[in-house]
Amino acid sequence: MKVAVFSTKYYEREYLNNYNKENRHQLTFFEMALNTQTVYLVTAFDAVCIQLTDIIDTAVIAKLSKSGIKLIALRSAGYDNVDIKAALKSKITIMRVPAYSPQAIAEHAVALILTLDRKTHKAYNRVRENNFSLQNLMGFNLDGKTIGVVGTGKIGAVFCKIMLGFGCKIIAFDLIESKVLIRKGVHYNTFDKLLENSDIISIHCPLTPKTRHLFNKKAFSKMKPGMMLINTSRGALINTSDAIIALKKRIIGYLGIDVYEGEEKIFFKDLSAAVIKDDLIERLMSFNNVLITPHQAFFTYEALSEIARITIENFSNFENDVHLENKIN
Ligand code: NAD
Repeated sequence: MKVAVFSTKYYEREYLNNYNKENRHQLTFFEMALNTQTVYLVTAFDAVCIQLTDIIDTAVIAKLSKSGIKLIALRSAGYDNVDIKAALKSKITIMRVPAYSPQAIAEHAVALILTLDRKTHKAYNRVRENNFSLQNLMGFNLDGKTIGVVGTGKIGAVFCKIMLGFGCKIIAFDLIESKVLIRKGVHYNTFDKLLENSDIISIHCPLTPKTRHLFNKKAFSKMKPGMMLINTSRGALINTSDAIIALKKRIIGYLGIDVYEGEEKIFFKDLSAAVIKDDLIERLMSFNNVLITPHQAFFTYEALSEIARITIENFSNFENDVHLENKIN
């Protein structure tokens, strides 16, 4: 298959080429994202392969369809950046990588928790300046704390297991309860009870019209003052303006985010010489109890390797019309 692979960085190309044995598929790499401005590049390809930074709206779908694209292959699990209805209407197949390494994301959520709690990022900078004082470095034990987990699918389940190992109590909220997790000691409850009782909340549900801004003014008003909120799922699950107010009121005592609702214009880029025009992220960065990582939770050797392997397998399976288990319906 001739595939236009968008939003590729050098590190990803290496993994994709490794799994594209004997150059079975003809891969053309583009560093830029696929969107209305760049869709003109898609000529004489069978498929496009995309990431979350690519915006595949109705206009892009119409152009892809016109240029004969038969497959949109996502190198991600989430697909909220693709107008699925429009693609299916245009008879374009959409495939994704449903699971590559839930451990990578769950472990990053834990890294955010431990960093915010024990302030290792602050100690690192302080010690480099010969400042060995303990002022403002006090943390808290995780043992015995109540953790709220919203979404107990693949990533949420791994996260629950890790936190149970720390001796935490877990309240979960999901549309589907996991019997395996219940047996391990996870207690399912309503979203409101989770908000009211959690010392730390970690978000692991997908972004859908129902979950957009699930964490808003109303939700923040029910939380324990000083709680910690962790989001490694999708930025728009949190209403950022409301979160800023909750941070000012000290309802959110700590915020750790790997995703941000306006991240498309900022993340995965070196903007060190630019002026950031997004006032919300600038305000978030000004809080010393907010830790932002640039959508790196998936970024482990194991995850990149799995993403590349499954993506190449998706191309081959689509070409041979077999095992389309990763197809989005
Ligand atoms: P999954 O499909 O295995 O699990 C999602 C869970 O959320 C399911 O159990 C589902 O029932 C539940 N859910 C759906 N709607 C809900 C709602 N309204 N309220 C509560 N629960 C709801 O997905 P996963 O593999 O665990 O991934 C979870 C999310 O993590 C993805 O949707 C994606 O947005 C995000 N993600 C982030 C990164 C990263 O690098 N930061 C990488 C991969 C995935």
